[in-house]
Amino acid sequence: MLRLSRFRFLRQVLIGLLSFVCVVTFAACGSGTPTTSSTGSSGGGVLKVATEPAFPPFESQGTSGDLVGFDIDLMKAIGAEAGLDIQFQSLPFDGIIPALQAGTVDAAISAMTITAERSQSVSFSRPYFKAGLAIAVRAKETGITSLDSLKNKRIAVQIGTTGADEAKKVAGAKIRTFDSAPLALQELANGNVDAVINDAPVTLYAIKSGNISGLKVATDQLLTEEFYGIAMPKDSPSLEKVNTGLKALIDNGKYNEIYKKWFDSEPATLPETAPL
Ligand code: GLN
Repeated sequence: MLRLSRFRFLRQVLIGLLSFVCVVTFAACGSGTPTTSSTGSSGGGVLKVATEPAFPPFESQGTSGDLVGFDIDLMKAIGAEAGLDIQFQSLPFDGIIPALQAGTVDAAISAMTITAERSQSVSFSRPYFKAGLAIAVRAKETGITSLDSLKNKRIAVQIGTTGADEAKKVAGAKIRTFDSAPLALQELANGNVDAVINDAPVTLYAIKSGNISGLKVATDQLLTEEFYGIAMPKDSPSLEKVNTGLKALIDNGKYNEIYKKWFDSEPATLPETAPL
């Protein structure tokens, strides 16, 4: 009797120990959430990178469904520099920070502005692009010439963006929120809103490429000065690698090459940190 219970006791201990080892091994393998510890084809690890591919020329879906854009080329180049195997994952823009916080992705490149508020929940790389907000209006519009002249007007914005934050500052504005910037711009072209507040390079690209017709930018002056950064979870082990890779690309001229490919001009000099 005594022997039997001792046997049972030992068996329980063994089962407990085994399951503990299993759980630890499982977590270390990262089979639940991908981490940089998993080894990719480059040998240095996989970096799962979120992006919202409806923001050309930074990220969009090419004709064969592949991701294309300045951010995509830059992230791949950083991966090559840092020995990281980049695996992109498409997410809605307003789902990116929650995904980083939950650890379901390792990083995000999505023309994301480095802001003080976002910096409380994620870590940003050094700035990789200088941008700013612009007001888009229909080509025949003459009354809207500044943020002030948007008072009581109908403004379309993309959810969760700095453009949406800017629109909230306009007294009496009727704000309509869309999942993507092209949808907001289309609403303006359709005549259902009076203006769109969006990142200038994206609005200018939409106009120039003919993706959306009958629009113009209301003022030459940008509403804000913003810097894009690659976002990572707080205390990410990849932050240093990404920053080192990005710095190398800026120094060796590859950043310039990628910039010229997408913007046909020389890039602005970038600060080491974004002024917040
Ligand atoms: N730069 C803007 C922001 O960070 C818009 C980004 C985007 O829509 N991809 O809010």
